[in-house]
Amino acid sequence: MPADSQWEVYAIRYAHHPRPARENFLGPLPADIHEGVMPLDYFVWAVKTGDRAYVLDTGFDEAMARKRGREFLHSPGDGLRAIGIDPAQVADVVLSHMHYDHCGNHELLPNARYHVQDREMMFATGRHMCHSHMRMPFEEEDVVAMVRKLFRGRVVFHSGDEALAPGLSLHYVGGHSMGLQMLRVNTRRGWVMLAADAAHLYANLERGIPYPILYNAAEVIEGYRRAYALASSPEHVIPGHDPLVMERYPAASPELRGWVARLD
Ligand SMILES: [Zn+2]
Repeated sequence: MPADSQWEVYAIRYAHHPRPARENFLGPLPADIHEGVMPLDYFVWAVKTGDRAYVLDTGFDEAMARKRGREFLHSPGDGLRAIGIDPAQVADVVLSHMHYDHCGNHELLPNARYHVQDREMMFATGRHMCHSHMRMPFEEEDVVAMVRKLFRGRVVFHSGDEALAPGLSLHYVGGHSMGLQMLRVNTRRGWVMLAADAAHLYANLERGIPYPILYNAAEVIEGYRRAYALASSPEHVIPGHDPLVMERYPAASPELRGWVARLD
């Protein structure tokens, strides 16, 4: 792989949730944001160069959508196949963190190694899970599935920022979850930052106001600064749950409109 590798970047939308605006901000609703519905979209992401692909997050499945009251649109696996990625051929998946909407579909990538931060596994299996409020965004079966992958030699741990491949690197943030990480990607338009839940919505990022589910608010806000600092421009930072991503970026192909956007 050449040292200056450029990657194609895809956002694959798989679920949707209409949510009151006030539930998207820590503290009072910002004065310029109207009361009412401010929905979330749910995504997995993929980056490709040549015949090499990395997947960021695995989403949830239809059963979890029912359990959590989310509107399920397409399975993440169908999204990968729609852009020519065979899930069985994927060698590496990065988990931004282990909340239920990012690490389900345990059997989707049967040959992939899972890249996680030390601190995320520690968080999901340690003392903080004694508290129901902290457990709420996690699913027991997701955490158990990761422990089983660990014992099958399929987990790669990272601590802080690390290079994965030419033009592709992980960046530790914490904040929303103790071991949250983002994925920085070199593309034909410069450095794109797939922020995942380091930034839920453009409105959180632009105002510096965290989404209310968090481990450490100061780290969330510092994460916004780091996402901007590591991207080629503010427009190169891609939030993890914003429906505007599907409006601001073109469909990967006409028949994938509303499903897969091209971010590079
Ligand atoms: Zn999320």
